[in-house]
Amino acid sequence: MANPSILILAGDGIGPEVMAEVKKIIGWFGNRRGIIFDVTEDLVGGCAYDVHGTPLTDATMAKAQEVDAVLLGAVGGPKYDVLDFSVKPERGLLRLRKEMDLFSNLRPAQCFDALADFSSLKKDVVAGLDIVIVRELTSGVYFGEPRGIVIEDNERVGINTQRYTESEIARVARSAFELARRRNNKVCSMEKANVMESGILWRQVVQEVHDKEYSDVDLSHMYADAGAMQLCRWPKQFDVIVTDNLFGDLLSDMAAMLTGSLGMLPSASLGSLMENGRPKALYEPVHGSAPDIAGQCKANPIACVLSFAMALRYSFDMGDEATRVEKAVEKVLADGVRTADLMGLEGGKPVSTSQMGDAIVAVLDASL
Ligand code: NAD
Repeated sequence: MANPSILILAGDGIGPEVMAEVKKIIGWFGNRRGIIFDVTEDLVGGCAYDVHGTPLTDATMAKAQEVDAVLLGAVGGPKYDVLDFSVKPERGLLRLRKEMDLFSNLRPAQCFDALADFSSLKKDVVAGLDIVIVRELTSGVYFGEPRGIVIEDNERVGINTQRYTESEIARVARSAFELARRRNNKVCSMEKANVMESGILWRQVVQEVHDKEYSDVDLSHMYADAGAMQLCRWPKQFDVIVTDNLFGDLLSDMAAMLTGSLGMLPSASLGSLMENGRPKALYEPVHGSAPDIAGQCKANPIACVLSFAMALRYSFDMGDEATRVEKAVEKVLADGVRTADLMGLEGGKPVSTSQMGDAIVAVLDASL
């Protein structure tokens, strides 16, 4: 069988810095576990604009469609703020998501015990938290037509349309049920069926997909506003939450912040299955290019490392190896190794980006 293939798009700002640490771990798998990935690298975002005059060339887009998984660092930076909207760095990322049709966005909210004090919630509410929000990413109110700002009766009216077809709901529901089966087998679907027709359809379709194909999974429904309250009150009641694009945008940011630093948060965006049975997939940290610390070796690479762990689990079916990486991160944090963003009141000296990567690799070595 061919080696699993990865396209690395490190991007701008701290993107290449955090991706360098992921490359160490990919190298470790080759050297120490005999798991060889075919890695190619290319440009996305501002650095692609600098070279090609576009944030994503057609050739890079074609490569992204062919590989088993794309790993992305971050895009953007103040230098590019003046560019026309059509060539801004973020357009490169949006094009990838759109043309790969990545409809299912997985955002884990996992709290490592060593960082429980970083949360704004009480320690016992977040310690050991491990949930995933599945957000529909390619439809809903951000894309629905009609949209725009029009004049009616001599005043401006802003219009957006929430629109979901049943096939769009069914495919993201399947993605959530499949995920739940690999975890604790529980899905909570969130919408506003009390006030929105699209919410009524959402609830019906999720229930139908469940009854026909996933009756072994424990399914519940919640109004999204009540869901937000429950996420703050007792987030550990959830396993997988599935919701639409708009509510998912809000709820996933909220859930992520239960756990502390932006430098810790990975994500996966998945699409339809390819011929080889793997989903189209893009893995990236939630954070941006952090221009305020770029080039200073201060960035926390853990979000990017955990994004790679998600690739191991969801693209390459290497759940045990993914757990090995996650456990290594957990151990390093438990040992008190901290980049600057994780420095608490206890003080101490922060490590650099590459020292954090080296510490993770050292624990991986010790795991053999
Ligand atoms: P940001 O996520 O880049 O940074 C927000 C804050 O968090 C900064 O203080 C930064 O130093 C800190 N931070 C972020 N990641 C960190 C890490 N790994 N380790 C330590 N600290 C970290 O968000 P921003 O400042 O709003 O945006 C900066 C640029 O990134 C903008 O051009 C924006 O458009 C872009 N952006 C890109 C993405 C992406 O590529 N997916 C996402 C968000 C923002």
